[in-house]
Amino acid sequence: MSVPLPLIHSPLKPGQQQIHLDPRAYDRGLVCVHCGLCLPACPTYTETLQESDSPRGRIQIMLGLTDGAIDMTPGIQNHLDLCLDCRACETACPSGVIYHELIEDFRHHNPSPNEITLQGRLMRWIFFNIFTHRSRLKWAVLPARLMQKTGIYALLRKTGLFKLLPQRLAKMEQMLPAHGRLWPRELPEFLHARRLDDSADQSNASTSPQPNSRPIKRVGFFVGCVGSVMYDEVNRKAVELLAAAGCDVVTDARQVCCGAIHNHNGATPTAHQLARHNIDTFLPLSGPQVDLIATNIAGCGAMLREYDFLFRDDPAYAQRAKDFASRVRDISEVLLEVGLPPMNHPIEQTVTYHDACHLAHAQKVTNAPRQLLAMIPGIKIKPLYECDMCCGAAGTYNLTQPEMATELAERKLKYIGQTKAGICAAGNVGCAMHIQSEADRRGQPIDVVHPVDLLHQAVFGPGK
Ligand code: SF4
Ligand code: SF4
Repeated sequence: MSVPLPLIHSPLKPGQQQIHLDPRAYDRGLVCVHCGLCLPACPTYTETLQESDSPRGRIQIMLGLTDGAIDMTPGIQNHLDLCLDCRACETACPSGVIYHELIEDFRHHNPSPNEITLQGRLMRWIFFNIFTHRSRLKWAVLPARLMQKTGIYALLRKTGLFKLLPQRLAKMEQMLPAHGRLWPRELPEFLHARRLDDSADQSNASTSPQPNSRPIKRVGFFVGCVGSVMYDEVNRKAVELLAAAGCDVVTDARQVCCGAIHNHNGATPTAHQLARHNIDTFLPLSGPQVDLIATNIAGCGAMLREYDFLFRDDPAYAQRAKDFASRVRDISEVLLEVGLPPMNHPIEQTVTYHDACHLAHAQKVTNAPRQLLAMIPGIKIKPLYECDMCCGAAGTYNLTQPEMATELAERKLKYIGQTKAGICAAGNVGCAMHIQSEADRRGQPIDVVHPVDLLHQAVFGPGK
C-alpha cells in the first residue's frame, strides 16, 4: 500500500486551472540555482533558443504554475509537452537537479489537454494496449510484415498513400524496420529460455555455460516489448553472447512490460502493477533468484533501475524494489564484467557510436559499450559530435511530437554523415528505429545497429 502524500497546489483564482505537484518533486526544482549550464545540453533549447524550452525555463514554469504565480495557457503547455525527458540537463547540472522527477510528476498529476484529443486518445490506447504487450504487437505488425515480404509495402510507399494517414500514424508507419521476421521468435525458442523456477539440471547440457575459473553468474534477461518484436534477433544474439561468456541465462517468459511507457504517460498505477509482476518473476520470494538482470534496451533498463523510486512509498515492495534495481545492468556492463568470448571474426568497418539518452544520462553508462566495440578486431571507431544529444526518439515522443523529433533526427544524421561511418551503433531500439527510418526517408546510407549485433558477428561470424 502506498502512503498518500499531500500535494502542493496553487491557491485558485477564478477560472484558474488547479495544478498539483508532489512536494518532493517541487523541492527538486528549488535546487536549481539558475546558472544556465544545462541550456546548451538541452535538445529543445538548442533548436528553438527559447528560455521556456530549456530545463531552467521549464523548472520555473512548473514551480510558477504550482505556486499560482502564472496561469496555464496552451503556449505554456506546449513548452512542457516539448520536453523529451531525455535527462541531458541532469548530466549537465552542477547543482544536482533531478529534473525527470519534476517533469514526470508534473505530467502525472496534470495530463496535457493535447492528449485528450481524438488522435491523442487513439495513440494512448495503442501505447497502452498494443505496444506494451508482446503478443498483441506481433499480431498488429504481422500484416505490415506480410506486405513487406511480398513487396506490396514498398509499392504502397512509392504511391505516397501512407502520407494520407494522420501525422502520428504516418510516423508510426515510417518507423517499421525494413527487415524483420514475419513472426518474431517467442522466448522459449531462445537457446537458454527457461523459467526461473525450472531446475538448473533441466537445462540442456549442450547449451550450458562453459566451465571456467570465474563463478557463474545467473543472469535474468529482460526482453522488452517493442524490442522483442521489432528486434528479436538482437535479443537472441545478446542471450547467445551471455551464454558464450559463461553466464547461466534465464529468459523467463512470465516477464511483462517494464512500465516505462505507462510511467512517462501518467498511468503510474499500471506501471506499479507491471513492476510488481517483474520483481516477483526475477526475485521470487522462494526459490532461485538471479544475480543480475540484463537488458539491451536502454529505455527499459532505465525504468527497471528506477523501481526503487517507483515503490519508495510502498512499504510492501520498497525493499524488494531496491534489491531488484541494484541488480539491473545494461548488456554492455555485463559483457564487460564477465569477459567476452574470443572474437575471431574481424569487422573491417568504420563505426560511430550514438549514446542513447536513457543509457548515458539516465543510467550513466557511456564507457562500457565503447570499450567493447573497441575490442572488435578490424573495427575503426569514429567519434560522433554531440554523441549524447537526443536523436528525437525518446520513447513515444517521436510519435507525439513528430516535428521536433524529425528536426533532432536530421541534426543527428548530419553529424553521423560527417563521420563518414557506414554503421552507427546505438544501445536502444527506439533510437535505432528512429534514426534508421529518418535516414531511409532522406536516402542517407547508414546502418543503425545495436552494439550486440557487432559483438555477435565478431564472436560467431557474419550471418549467424
Ligand atoms: S529532459 Fe531533455 S528536453 Fe527536457 S529540459 Fe532536460 S535536456 Fe531539455
Ligand atoms: S544547470 Fe541545474 S542549476 Fe543550472 S540552470 Fe540548469 S537545472 Fe538549474
